[in-house]
Amino acid sequence: MKHIVILGDGMADLPSLKLEHLTPLQKAHTPNMDRLAQLGRSGLFHTVPASLHPGSEVANMAVMGYDVENLYEGRGVLEAASIGVNLEENDLAFRCNLITLEDGIIHNHSAGHIESEESGVLIDYLNEHLADERVAFHKGVSYRHLLVIKGGNKHIHCTPPHDVPGAKEKDHLPYALNESIESKETAALVADLIQKSQSLLASHPINIQRKENGKATASSIWPWSPGYKPQMPTLKEAYQVQKSAVISAVDLIQGIGIYAGMEVIKVEGATGLWNTNFEGKRDAAIEALKSCDYVYLHIEAPDEAGHEGDVKQKIGAIEDIDKKVVGPILDYALEQKDIAVALLPDHPTPWEIKTHTRDAVPFVIYHPKNPKDQVESYSEEAASKGAYGEIEKIEFMKLLLNLK
Ligand SMILES: [Zn+2]
Repeated sequence: MKHIVILGDGMADLPSLKLEHLTPLQKAHTPNMDRLAQLGRSGLFHTVPASLHPGSEVANMAVMGYDVENLYEGRGVLEAASIGVNLEENDLAFRCNLITLEDGIIHNHSAGHIESEESGVLIDYLNEHLADERVAFHKGVSYRHLLVIKGGNKHIHCTPPHDVPGAKEKDHLPYALNESIESKETAALVADLIQKSQSLLASHPINIQRKENGKATASSIWPWSPGYKPQMPTLKEAYQVQKSAVISAVDLIQGIGIYAGMEVIKVEGATGLWNTNFEGKRDAAIEALKSCDYVYLHIEAPDEAGHEGDVKQKIGAIEDIDKKVVGPILDYALEQKDIAVALLPDHPTPWEIKTHTRDAVPFVIYHPKNPKDQVESYSEEAASKGAYGEIEKIEFMKLLLNLK
């Protein structure tokens, strides 16, 4: 058997008064998603355990069958994999943002979405002055970079900068989560790097130029989400999936794929936005199914629309996924007869809230060998009546692979 997961990031939502009490999934015209629901079995999946934040990386790892409560090690390590940085044991990796911080106030988490050409020069500059045998910065994309501290202690608290725009820097500096000398030392080292980065960055020509042009400056580093290289088994080790592939525009998802031992397939024009190359991603997924037992097709567009609070774009993204992705892939699977097809989001991104929630998500699995249930359409409400009921932890992967 072969298996494909079609994941519409943030697709689930809440009923809204402004949509006649419907969700975007209910409001959208989705004949192919409904056809899939009629052929398969539905349910609700609690992708995010209570102990973790409802981030895409956590939820997507759960969909892939990983025990996130024990294996999740933060964003830094996943991004390290996606940019090709090999972590050694005891290397503590942080996501390291370049942020705008002036007069002690955190203005934004992204240095005005600084371009990679400029941010790369700044990261090189910080390395020249701050890197030593323990500390190294690695270049990523735009404002998203990596800090690695050899022998760092992960029991420190760091604040995600996007959670605290307008807040005072001094209220959100890293601190030790226990009384150990090691965690206090790491927290003090990170706080010191933040301070030193500010004096270095303030006088850099790129920032002087940005200020002159009225752009947000990259005036500080902001490390967060610390962790060690995850002890993740590959999908082959955990589930005997011989060959697998992931298709996603998002570096975090690609990073999970690398630890999972999946081939990372890059598709031209895959942007992560609603203008993404849906057809290109679909064709790459169908091509991958010819040689892989498991294909993970991740589409970011509905999540982006949800964060923007743009319900029209969200419904449009869902309809695009239905028509350009789900329909052709389902047709191909029915023709081949040995392909199981699953559809789900990782978490809801309700457009009226503009951020992720931890509610259970609707899922459907069509498995040629399994009987269908009574569900006739694909939505949050329809899936709540499905034969699979409510599931959690690694159960989705087991159902998809027909292991239980
Ligand atoms: Zn997500």
